[in-house]
Amino acid sequence: MLSKDELARYDRQIRIDKIGEVGQLKLKQSSVVIVGAGGLGSPISMYLTAAGVGRIGLVDGDKVSITNLNRQILYGTDDVGKDKVFVAKERLKKLNPYVKVEIYPTWFTDIDIAKNIFLKYDAVIDATDNFQTRYLINQACVSLGKPLFVGAVGRFIGQAMDVSPHETACFNCVFPEKEKEVVSLMTERNLSEGIIGTLVGTIGTIVASEFIKFTLNIGNTLFNKLLIYDLINNEFSIINLEKNPKCSICGDLNK
Ligand SMILES: [Zn+2]
Repeated sequence: MLSKDELARYDRQIRIDKIGEVGQLKLKQSSVVIVGAGGLGSPISMYLTAAGVGRIGLVDGDKVSITNLNRQILYGTDDVGKDKVFVAKERLKKLNPYVKVEIYPTWFTDIDIAKNIFLKYDAVIDATDNFQTRYLINQACVSLGKPLFVGAVGRFIGQAMDVSPHETACFNCVFPEKEKEVVSLMTERNLSEGIIGTLVGTIGTIVASEFIKFTLNIGNTLFNKLLIYDLINNEFSIINLEKNPKCSICGDLNK
């Protein structure tokens, strides 16, 4: 049930016929864990908190640095030096006290750490900034059958895709870990080349919207699709993907 205060808080989205009170209740009953409380994790966690997702996990072992502040809008100048997830939890609680925020100040050094956390949630969002962690998250999601929503950014280019393990292309189907030249297509290689802060806002809100649409079962999602946004040229493109039966993570031999 939604309280009177919740009905008022979510009034503007409850008014949308595809959402309504039923949809709002679905959001309240949903849970998601976001890996990475940085540039992408900031808008994703803030919008999902504001939207009324019932339980949100946030994983990040990092501390706030002054170089984060051009894009990581969860944090302010006074937070430099503090653990990200603790600051983030306070910020999100202020935004919406009805959402349960659970924090994990840790790094994914092995897959069991990831799996133990993912087990507690309906879905996983990859808001990280490095390949090693992305492959580990993807592998953990495939092994648990957890839906995965991926966002990636670098300089002026952002990407997003959704994964339904064993049903649609996984991250490794599209960017096979062993093929380094394919990996170089992804955007993180550009992290050292810098990133414009507004880009994580665009990609972060796309990823957050994907989770909402998935939870409400509405609209067109990015399963078997890779969305590419080119900020500098104002171009959105979508590439159709296919599951690779020989994928080393989700292929037929790994069922
Ligand atoms: Zn795969």
